[in-house]
Parts: sequence; structure tokens; C-alpha cells
Amino acid sequence: MLENLTQRLSRVVKTIKGEARLTEANTQDMLREVRMALLEADVALPVVRDFIARVKEQALGTEVADSLNPGQALVGVVHKELTGLMGGSDGEFASELSLATQPPAVILMAGLQGAGKTTTTGKLAKWLSEGGHTAKGKKSGKKKTLVVSADVYRPAAIDQLKTVAAQVGVDFFPSDGSQKPEDIARAALDHAKRHYYDILIVDTAGRLGIDEDMMREIRALYDLLNPIETLFVVDAMQGQDAVNVAKAFGDALPLTGVVLTKLDGDARGGAALSVRHVTGKPLKFVGVSEKLDGLEPFHPERMAQRVLGMGDIVSLVEQAQKNIDIAEAQKLATKLKSGDKFDLNDFRDQLQQVKKMGDMGSMLEKLPAQFAQAASQLQSGQAEKQLRRTEGILNSMTPAERAKPELLKASRKRRIAAGSGVSVQEVNRLLAQFDQMQGMMKQMKKGGMAKMMRAMGG
Ligand code: GDP
Ligand code: MG
Repeated sequence: MLENLTQRLSRVVKTIKGEARLTEANTQDMLREVRMALLEADVALPVVRDFIARVKEQALGTEVADSLNPGQALVGVVHKELTGLMGGSDGEFASELSLATQPPAVILMAGLQGAGKTTTTGKLAKWLSEGGHTAKGKKSGKKKTLVVSADVYRPAAIDQLKTVAAQVGVDFFPSDGSQKPEDIARAALDHAKRHYYDILIVDTAGRLGIDEDMMREIRALYDLLNPIETLFVVDAMQGQDAVNVAKAFGDALPLTGVVLTKLDGDARGGAALSVRHVTGKPLKFVGVSEKLDGLEPFHPERMAQRVLGMGDIVSLVEQAQKNIDIAEAQKLATKLKSGDKFDLNDFRDQLQQVKKMGDMGSMLEKLPAQFAQAASQLQSGQAEKQLRRTEGILNSMTPAERAKPELLKASRKRRIAAGSGVSVQEVNRLLAQFDQMQGMMKQMKKGGMAKMMRAMGG
């Protein structure tokens, strides 16, 4: 099970709370944990080494804020470094596409087979033809977009792009497997010029591995097309391997940016750091779905959080420490962790914690996405009022009933409903909701909740 960084560090913090500075001595063990966390997030080893050196340099001498322990302070440094390395912070999107050139602006897609080039070609075409937002949130204006496939090795690849183009409603320049990639590219460019396209996106053939022929071919396409953007498309699930692939493409082609695909999967996002480090090129987009609207601008800060396996834990911890009853939280966390049954007594405790934490909205934004989603589902709408009613119902149960909800047959339900001034249906609803939550808890045990609670306690 992956731990998040705050937990890892909490485990090895030997220093007393309130230690004023990060030092060689108090960061040594912690840096080892950072290293492990990054490796587990699939960041490549040489990249991890460099990164740790940078963090160390930044961390030593850093003052530890009163409300934090050195572990949390170090997470802050790591997070900041990571965000910086990935292209900046302050919620800024990294880089937008630069399309300022005499039209048609050519975008060349490069990457291994299966990386997601064809899919991303379709996504980008949709994005651009609909006047996608630029990094700073401004509409860039609708672009007349043409796509073409130079993947002559697999006939199905050309058909795939044709289908994708039809789905997103952009023009498709036909090609076929008997042609040479360069001839296709030349013809498509010519067509795009004569028909005043703003954009020409050229999808290319990939190979399963790094391959000399492939590199020669795409280089030739590059020379012929003179693209304003040459995007390296890489599968986030590639993890460690992404480094070698990125290096090979970066050496062969003057890349202008990277698209990291399949981030909707389990990938921890370490590839983002590796690829960025190796190519030195900005990540511009991430693919978050097989569907053609599953493209998002790359967001360095979010990616840093993903790599570290946490929401904005540091500020969450700060905020929560003010209000939360840590002992309670810890008890609950231990329970979740140990796999004990989560019963209505826990549910009630948890509601009380939620109430104490106050401003749920801003808390939720900081939680790891997985949990935030679950929590907002639970919240759905009438949060505050519902919370009080729910608590009323729970309070009308006996501890034994809360521990064993299956005791709640009709007569007990009627008593509870009367006691809390609600209908029996509402009691039933609560029990159904609780059932759902129990299921969620099981799922979250792996992902977020237990970790978060422990992080708060640490
Ligand atoms: P290509 O060989 O580089 O052109 O790769 P494709 O575009 O054909 O994509 C390979 C597979 O990955 C297809 O099944 C796509 O649906 C899938 N895929 C591409 N991008 C994403 C993504 O962002 N998320 C998910 N889940 N699947 C993706
Ligand atoms: Mg393809």
C-alpha cells in the first residue's frame, strides 16, 4: 500500500515538535522516505537523485513553522520544488500551444505505438476547432483544423484517425498504406495551405520500442513540415521507461512540449517529472480519458500533489489541527487501517469531526481527489441541515444499535424516528447512505481516508 509523503515522514521524524530548523540530522531519514516515495511514484532513479539533491539544498536551514513538525515542513519544500520543476506554481497552467505563425500552424505528434498519439490528435483537434482555452483561460478562437495520418504501417491506424476526426467534427485528409509518409505529409500541407486551414495536425506511426527507422522517419517529417509544435506523447503508465523513450525522442527531434496520457489510470504521475527532467520541455496537456474530451492543460501543482500522493496536505494539516480532535481522528484512522468494522458509532464520530472542521468547502478542495469526490457525493447539497438531522437520528439510537445496525428492525426504527422527529423513511435513508459509505470506506482504506486521518494525527 502506498503511503503518502506526510505519513512516511511522520513515521521517521525523531525530533521533537517545534524544532526550529531543518538540519542535516533531522532530514536524513526523511529524505530517504522522499526518495522512496518518488520511486514508488515511478520517477526514474537518476531523476530522483538529482531531485533529492535539490531538495536537500533547499531544505537545510529552512525554518519550521510553529504549527508544523519537521516532516510537514519538508513536505512543503518537496512540494514546492516539485511544482517548480514541473513548470511553476500559483495554479498557473504550464504552457499553451504556440500557434503564432503563418497558417497553417503544423503540429507534429511523436511517440511510441500505443502512447495515445491518434487519440490525442483527435482531442487536440476538438480543443482547437472549438476554440479551446489557452493557458490563461482566454479563448483562443475557433481554428479551422485538418488532421492527417502518416501511419502507413497499420491500415487500421488511418481508419482510426478518420473515425476520430468524424467524431470531433474536424476535416480529415485521406491517406493510405501504399503511400510514403513524406508524400502524405507534403500533400496534406499543400491541401491545408490551399484551403486556408489554421492548423494541420500530423499523426505519425509509432513503434513498440525505440527504433532507428522510426526516428529517421519522423525526423524527415519534421524537416519537411517545419512544425511550430512537436509534441511528444507519452503514456503515464510507462513509469520508469518513459525516461529512455523521452530521451530518444528528445535527441531525435526538437520537441516543443509533452502530452502525458492515461492519467486517468493508476499512474502516480512520476513519468511527468522524469520526462520533464530528461527533455527539458514543458508538459502542455494531460490525457485523462479515452474519450475525446479527455484532454486538460497540464497543471504543475496538481501533478506535484499526485506524485506525492496527497492533496495539499500541509495546509490541510494546519487548518485541521486548529479544530479537529486529533485523538478522535486517530482512533478512527486506526480503526480504518486495522480493517475493523466501520459502524454507526464511527459514523457519528466522524460527522462530529466534520462539523468541527467548519468550512467544508475549502477543506474538500484540498483533499486528495479521490476522497474529495466521495465526500462531495455524501454532501450533495443540503449539507449543513442534513448533517444536523443525521446526527439527531444517530443520537436517538443506542450505542449497541449503532454498533450493530442490523439490529434495527421496524419497531426500533419507529422509536428512533419518533425520538429524532423524523420519518421512518428518513431513518431508512440514513441506513442506506451508511451502507454506501461503508462500501466507500473499504475502497478508501487503500487510497485516502486512513492516510489523511493519520497525517492529521502526525
Ligand atoms: P497511438 O498508437 O499512439 O496512436 O495510440 P492511440 O491513440 O491509438 O491510443 C492507444 C490506446 O490508448 C487506445 O485504446 C486509446 O483509447 C487509449 N488512450 C489514449 N489516451 C488515453 C487517455 O488519456 N486515457 C485513457 N484511459 N486511454 C487513452
Ligand atoms: Mg496511432
